[in-house]
Amino acid sequence: MFKHLLIGKTEPESRAHLKVALLRSQLGLLCFIVVAIYIIFDSLQGIYILVPAYCVVAFFSILSIWLNRINKGFASSLTFLLLIALMTYFFAVNDSSQSGVFVYFIMIALTSMVFFGYRYRLYVILFCILLVFLFLSAYLFPLPAFMLSGEDMDKINAPEYREISFIINFLGGFFLCTAIVYFLMDLNFHSEKEILQKNALLSKTNHELDRFVYSASHELRAPLTSLLGLLDIAGRTSDQDELKQCHSMMHERIQNMDLLIKEVIDFSRNARQEISKEKFELRPVVQKILDDLKFMGPVEKMVLKLRINPDMEVITDPARLKMLLNNLISNAFKYADRQKDKCEIEVGAAVENQYVTLWIKDNGQGIAPDQQQKIFNMFYRASEDSSGSGLGLYIVREIVTRLNGTIQLKSALGQGSTFTLWLPNHL
Ligand code: ADP
Repeated sequence: MFKHLLIGKTEPESRAHLKVALLRSQLGLLCFIVVAIYIIFDSLQGIYILVPAYCVVAFFSILSIWLNRINKGFASSLTFLLLIALMTYFFAVNDSSQSGVFVYFIMIALTSMVFFGYRYRLYVILFCILLVFLFLSAYLFPLPAFMLSGEDMDKINAPEYREISFIINFLGGFFLCTAIVYFLMDLNFHSEKEILQKNALLSKTNHELDRFVYSASHELRAPLTSLLGLLDIAGRTSDQDELKQCHSMMHERIQNMDLLIKEVIDFSRNARQEISKEKFELRPVVQKILDDLKFMGPVEKMVLKLRINPDMEVITDPARLKMLLNNLISNAFKYADRQKDKCEIEVGAAVENQYVTLWIKDNGQGIAPDQQQKIFNMFYRASEDSSGSGLGLYIVREIVTRLNGTIQLKSALGQGSTFTLWLPNHL
């Protein structure tokens, strides 16, 4: 809410840009608050001479925040920096040099470094030259146009007022300079951390991709070789039954290839696409997946249970969640135990704090303990009669990792399996 007020719908290119955009508006707001306080403070003491100057500052502070909100970061920075530079100049000309007001020139130079950054260092240099000029001008040859005089100025330059000003200015300048250097340190630390994390992810992705391309081409060759063999047999035989059998086997191989290609696409989508979270109702999504898959198992024996409240909403990446559920639920259908009277599948979900728990439970063939870790590996099939590519659960694990979630499997051979997922349930 407060963030929205400060930067509006600005979409920064990175975390660093976001932090700088926030700082711009925060400083603008701080400036506005400080002059508002001064207006009250001076008015209470009967000093009105500076009120018009304070109003100009308040106006430009708000203008700088507004420019920042409409994504004009550069214009906002320039407005704010020129404003505080001229404001400091104005006070430096009118206050006694003993009030310590000059310390703000240092703070403004540091702020310009944060706002423009290394990319626009030329502006920083030009701005610092302007600041040096303003300082020398204020100290050595103040412009008369900026100088105020009268009874109010005598009050302002009275020794007691000057002493208070010196303390306020020194502490304010000190605090702001340290805060800005701290801000730069924080930015630097987190940018470095981000780069290291991205590097690690990139080298992992590269390595995985190499392995994936090698294995996928290997897997794609198997049905192709088999197809070539079947075509060869079909070309040589005139027996109608044998021809029919060849056709059905070819059909099956092509379906396998199609499935594999779909999974390769899923894999690549997960690796490439940015996470895009949104809030949506979970039950209709799961219901649709169940409807699409229900003919995969022994239809007459299937008992489907959906334990998800109709009004339950989750916040996650819908495309990835569908891929996850599709893989896990289709496995529950594929590996149903057809010897049993009833083939049960239960899909449930519960929202707890910041997480959503999802479970897919079946009373199917089950998975032997020594296979339970391996089934998440690339192209791993746990049973001889597995008709799939062995890629589904590998993709599931990759997606869960990208969503910062966890997955757990409980299974007993001949009894069934339960896959439980914990996914973050927030933006
Ligand atoms: P596949 O495409 O072979 O189904 P997966 O990666 O989805 O590949 O699964 C890997 C292996 O794990 C499967 O070959 C199967 O043996 C086993 N498996 C997965 N889910 C289940 C389940 N619900 N019940 C029994 N076995 C399963």
